[in-house]
Amino acid sequence: MQTLQKTMLSITILLLVICAGCTTYNVEEKTAAAADQRSDKEIIDGVKPIEKKQMTSFQDRKVKQNSDKDQRITVSAVGDILIHDVVYNSAKKGNGYDFKPILKEMKPYLRKADLAFANQESMIGGSALGLSSYPRFNSPLEVGNAVADAGVDIVSLANNHTLDRGEAAIMRATDHWRKLGVAYVGSYRNEGDREKLRILKTSSGMRVAFLAYTYGTNGLSVPPGKPYLVNLIDKKRIAGEIARAKKAGAEAVVLSLHFGDEYAREPNKMQEDLVCYAAKAGADVVLGHHPHVLQPVEWVKGKNGRTLVIHSLGNFISGQKGVYKQAGGMLTWDFVKKDGRITVEHPRFMPTWVTYGKWTPEPLFKVKKGILPNRDTIYTEVKSHMKKRMPDLEFMER
Ligand SMILES: [Zn+2]
Repeated sequence: MQTLQKTMLSITILLLVICAGCTTYNVEEKTAAAADQRSDKEIIDGVKPIEKKQMTSFQDRKVKQNSDKDQRITVSAVGDILIHDVVYNSAKKGNGYDFKPILKEMKPYLRKADLAFANQESMIGGSALGLSSYPRFNSPLEVGNAVADAGVDIVSLANNHTLDRGEAAIMRATDHWRKLGVAYVGSYRNEGDREKLRILKTSSGMRVAFLAYTYGTNGLSVPPGKPYLVNLIDKKRIAGEIARAKKAGAEAVVLSLHFGDEYAREPNKMQEDLVCYAAKAGADVVLGHHPHVLQPVEWVKGKNGRTLVIHSLGNFISGQKGVYKQAGGMLTWDFVKKDGRITVEHPRFMPTWVTYGKWTPEPLFKVKKGILPNRDTIYTEVKSHMKKRMPDLEFMER
């Protein structure tokens, strides 16, 4: 135990030292478009570490190097799914709800990715618990059905609304996500559930771990003895989980962080510092959310070369009104495996738009001018905002 503590202390000190020199930089790099085929994948809970002898055998290594050549997967991520009453009331159908029409415009894009992520901001505790809106949300189970149908593979449940309706909502929501075959991360049913790493394996064999944390829970205290209900930001724990995921066979780590100032279009110091720390600890991609508006994309120097960061993905679906709250987006990138090493390549962004009263996110470039007369001005402004720290960021316009 003492040795373990000493090791952890050394790691912490080392991380603090290397983090002091954190800088951002731009890299001009363009790669070919990713394969359109969406592959099947499996979720590995607590995947076993790869045995050393497997990795060091000459023959195995040779085979591995050959088969690894240019292996590439595409990952897409969208921001907050925050279901206000105006949104769920519009989705009422018979005795239940149907959110599939709301996701129909973005479904083809999400389905194109090998892995797709979303921040499920409101817990889907279901109607039996009584639905609710701001300030303490509880959303219909059917939101999950539509999210799964749209091709989302994993949702983050760690945010300031995680505890809105208590343990009961978390248990019902996680049970439903399980039934749907959608992985969830950042809020758990028990300690054992929390310990199981969310490592998603694509059909091409690439293993990607997802981790999720939030800055807080709107003043609601975590029930005593149940810290697993919500992952609160804890630098040591984040670094420990990144290391544990890599040891367990994850080739890449995507870290979801719910942080920042609401409605601020630029990241604050706490965001910058934490992103820097996470990059140095080995996160390959950092997905920020919480501000409800978009914040820029950038490269940050990391342990593995460079870490792709989006400080805030903005709203994906919400009942919020205002240009920057109705604009959201989908960040897409490739994980490329070459000679056993993974790199993050070809980041691209698709700004989205939710028309108030319609609630369906759609690519901003496609919104009819009859609905949004100043669409071109908004689109140009959003694009320049997103690429201000990454001038060569591409935009998806097909
Ligand atoms: Zn939030």
